[in-house]
Amino acid sequence: MKVMKFGGTSVGKPERMRQIAELIIADNEPVMVVLSALSGTTNALVEITHRLAASDKQGASEKIEALENHYNKFIDDLLQDVSLHARAKEVLNEHFEFLSITQKISLSDALNKDILAQGELMSTKLFSLFLEQSKIDHALLPALDFMRLDQNEEPDLALIQEKLNGVLANYTTKNIFVTQGYICRNAKGEVDNLKRGGSDYTASLIAAAIKASVCEIWTDIDGMHNNDPRVVEKTVAIEQLSFDEAAELAYFGAKILHPTCIWPAQQENIPVKLLNTMEPKAPGTVIKKEAGTVGVKAVAAKDDIIAVKIKSTRMLLAYGFLRKIFEVFEKYKTPIDMITTSEVAVSVTIDSDLHLAEIIAELNNIASVEVERSQTIVSIVGNEIAMTDSILKKLFNSIDEIPITMVSYGGSAHNISLLMPSEHKTKTLQLINKGLFDL
Ligand code: ASP
Ligand code: MG
Repeated sequence: MKVMKFGGTSVGKPERMRQIAELIIADNEPVMVVLSALSGTTNALVEITHRLAASDKQGASEKIEALENHYNKFIDDLLQDVSLHARAKEVLNEHFEFLSITQKISLSDALNKDILAQGELMSTKLFSLFLEQSKIDHALLPALDFMRLDQNEEPDLALIQEKLNGVLANYTTKNIFVTQGYICRNAKGEVDNLKRGGSDYTASLIAAAIKASVCEIWTDIDGMHNNDPRVVEKTVAIEQLSFDEAAELAYFGAKILHPTCIWPAQQENIPVKLLNTMEPKAPGTVIKKEAGTVGVKAVAAKDDIIAVKIKSTRMLLAYGFLRKIFEVFEKYKTPIDMITTSEVAVSVTIDSDLHLAEIIAELNNIASVEVERSQTIVSIVGNEIAMTDSILKKLFNSIDEIPITMVSYGGSAHNISLLMPSEHKTKTLQLINKGLFDL
């Protein structure tokens, strides 16, 4: 069985839904289809929760009404069969009635997540009705029956595997399954989610749980590109990436893939393919165990980085200094992205200032601390980068004019990371496109 995940824009218009129905029956392999909410829906639901939180009932109900109108038009176009259209209308009534009721009860964290779950619940039910209209035999599987988080709010892959395989055992004659991305239950059994953009993660977790032949992520671009197409003029799709390279790229800013979604596929060695719904025959990008080629493959940038420069107030050669520093970050559950050290100083970067004040206060017991905000990490990612001809020379020659504030090289064989004030990002990406990719 394979997994095919379609993002918001791939299901966002009735004609796109028709198109993905064709894609899922294109070959005869059994398939688990994972869908996001229609594009714009989750943003609208977030907005509704914000308005409810601000006691803006009027604002929330306007937003709900606008969304309902959108869905009503959507089913008018999608479903011509009168009885299926009537059932779609019932589905919408049920979900929008729920959204209306939320205005009358007090907002809690649990209710918040229930609201956010409505998008995927609706998109999959509507798609299922469309498949019925197209006489495509399938089963709609509620993700809330098998997608689980553990006590640490991380997906519980073993439990997901057990539950999902239990569910699938009831459907021995079906070949097409449809389920929701993003939504799950937490360890308390409440409705929860895998965070924004989490449908990719769902797809990868399901692929690992059922040991799928491939996990296909369908979007509206032809794979992962070597550079950010919004920033530089010319970019090319990357043919093949290793799991490690893809994880670094996704983490360091490539928007096409959710960073967490690599590990489940990697763990079960399931190839992930990034494909384009608008151009289904294009090869896209395949992510698998082998990197394919040696050398630099892509560059990505991550904004809103904070640099924390920590200088020991004690003396040279103090041992245990690094441990003490890391313990502070660990205590405040703040992951470190980049790190560079000298004899008496350590610089690290973090991407959240949630506990920054506490971290600085504790570090001040052993060090002097300086903080710089509005930084960007530019990461050059590839396979065996050190083996690439004159890589450092080419890289630094090409970005000679950029005031780089930190460099991290050698931490892994597939990454060189540079830190700079964010205003230099665009220029840096453009210069690297010329200097390293000849584009
Ligand atoms: N609908 C959710 C979101 O927009 C999940 C996803 O699309 O992956 O964040
Ligand atoms: Mg989405």
